[in-house]
Amino acid sequence: NKYVVTTSNIDGAPNESNFAICEQVVSLKVLRQPAGEGSDIVVVVKNMYVSIDPYQINRMKSYSCSQGTVSAAAALLPGQAINASGVGRVVGSTHPEFKEGDLVSGALIWGEYTLVKGISLQWLQKLDTNLSFPLSYFAGGVLGSSGLTAYGGFFKVCKPKKGDKVFVFAASGSVGSLVGQYAKLFGCYVVGCAGTKQKVDLLKDELGFDDAFNYKQETDLNSALKRYFPEGIDIYFDNVGGEMLEAAINNMNVFGRVSLCGVISEYTDDSKRAKPDMVAVVYKRIKIEGFLSVDFMDIYQEYISTTIIYLQTGELKAVEDISDGLDSIPTAFVDLFRGNNVGKKIVRISQD
Ligand code: NDP
Repeated sequence: NKYVVTTSNIDGAPNESNFAICEQVVSLKVLRQPAGEGSDIVVVVKNMYVSIDPYQINRMKSYSCSQGTVSAAAALLPGQAINASGVGRVVGSTHPEFKEGDLVSGALIWGEYTLVKGISLQWLQKLDTNLSFPLSYFAGGVLGSSGLTAYGGFFKVCKPKKGDKVFVFAASGSVGSLVGQYAKLFGCYVVGCAGTKQKVDLLKDELGFDDAFNYKQETDLNSALKRYFPEGIDIYFDNVGGEMLEAAINNMNVFGRVSLCGVISEYTDDSKRAKPDMVAVVYKRIKIEGFLSVDFMDIYQEYISTTIIYLQTGELKAVEDISDGLDSIPTAFVDLFRGNNVGKKIVRISQD
């Protein structure tokens, strides 16, 4: 079984040399034992698609590794297999509910096979093969954690009203592209921003955003936001943090809401930490709320059924960026921080 590991902690911008590919023989002896309880239960999954997510970098930092944990997930020590959402096919199982050939989604690893056991079994789900969507949709994308994050982060945290003016940063990415589309479908006015012309065109021409701009071409983010939101921003869905969060706060309306989904610009550079004008936050009564996708399990059914209908009617588009082969994982991950992905970054490890 080949799998990806980090070679050292990563405290700044990641690069390919921070990763290596290891090989380990997996013994299937365990599968010949009779089905047992608890820790005896193992499901062996041949990985097909794995999710590549920015938050993983926070698990790779020296600080996280010395503490043994970060708030969202356990630290990833150098040399350790890296777990991530994914989709695969069961090739062996002692679990009564999973049999060889089943297609599943769950916590897999950046590797060829995953031995799913212990606590990870609670995330393992059989895929509904009646749904004729690409399997990749379930690998942390529109029908996985990005979808739930976008739906919950927008509807539960931002509590939108029709006509609200919504600003989304990293808008062509996995979460951002869905937030903007949910907001449009709900009846908001939506402006997105992204780091290339290709991404800006995608937002305006394919995803139905009212407007979009390239933040890398703006010399003053404050005045850019004044131009795009002459009547102010009601909702800011933040994926990035840093100076854009400061500029957004300056342009928020009274009782504005900031959905603090992630701060990717700060993950690799502590000096980018946002210092928003807190006096403005007080006087404008702005609500800033951080969250994790797991906080939205109470609305999971609503999210999944609404999203499936939107996908079936073609009102919602899933933008995916798929690379091929286990060897492409280090570059796929590093590219998130270089802005080289368009939509949900996924690596296809195997076709069957
Ligand atoms: P994306 O698909 O949006 O990929 C990352 C994008 O971020 C890049 O393509 C790039 O787009 C942008 N970016 C990278 N570095 C910078 C930088 N220094 N400054 C500005 N923009 C940058 O990733 P996801 O949709 O998976 O994640 C988006 C955010 O949501 C992340 O912060 C992530 O951690 C967070 N998240 C939070 C979850 C939660 O439960 N709270 C769950 C999932 C994600 P561009 O070219 O436009 O700059």
